[in-house]
Amino acid sequence: MQKKKVLITGASSGFGEACARWYGERGCSLILCARRKNRLDFLAGDLNVPVFTVELDVRDRTAVDRVVSRLPEDFADVDILVNNAGLALGLEPAPRASLDDWETMVDTNVKGLMYLTRAILPGMVARKKGHIVNMGSVAGSWPYPGGNAYGATKAFVEQFSRNLRCDILGSGVRVTNIAPGMAETEFSLVRFKGEADKASGTYRGVKALTAENIAEIVGWVTMLPAHVNINHLEVMPTQQA
Ligand code: NDP
Repeated sequence: MQKKKVLITGASSGFGEACARWYGERGCSLILCARRKNRLDFLAGDLNVPVFTVELDVRDRTAVDRVVSRLPEDFADVDILVNNAGLALGLEPAPRASLDDWETMVDTNVKGLMYLTRAILPGMVARKKGHIVNMGSVAGSWPYPGGNAYGATKAFVEQFSRNLRCDILGSGVRVTNIAPGMAETEFSLVRFKGEADKASGTYRGVKALTAENIAEIVGWVTMLPAHVNINHLEVMPTQQA
């Protein structure tokens, strides 16, 4: 893995932060993106590899293009893109769900992921190597009450990943959709808009996945020989229904 350049969106907490630590421990150079740059800088201080931190809201298409086109020389030509930034909000049953929440999920989970992909993919194809790992969810294929728009954004991620692979077949670039089940991160706190009691209730009775579990899987799929492409990988807590 040494010397690979890895760009991770949503690296300020949860899966993204754990991925940064995983790749950092293996000598990769890291481009860490999120809105909370102070968190990224704090994380960078823990890592003994070259790290470029950048404040980026993935919903801002112009900002995404600017960041990718102006990466410092040592960080340009990204080898691995971990399209991880994302969120669930509200998850209310559809008749009373907030349209603002639905839009935020689409803008972040769908459009943000498309912007990063479109900005980075051409370089990978030109260099005939690279790996895009998209963070989907089991919610993309398993319906549940309140999962409406969130699940649909993750279904998009899954199918977008498959279709991307078709478009670039023969280029040497790999595409993987990871679909985790319940994992204990800040995800639930964001979903319940800061209500800690409700957030922690999500995990009651189930030993949830950890961010480190997911980072290990993301790292593993990208470490396989270049001719091996894991297309889709679903991982759930053993006890999750
Ligand atoms: P966290 O809330 O811990 O992390 C989410 C990350 O996304 C944060 O770093 C946040 O950074 C970033 N983010 C959110 N919105 C934006 C934005 N507009 N621009 C840039 N970055 C943004 O949750 P997880 O680590 O659990 O979630 C990571 C991914 O995994 C998400 O795509 C989520 O949908 C998916 N997932 C999570 C599951 C779970 O149970 N935890 C299960 C299945 C999938 P910041 O706020 O600093 O911008």
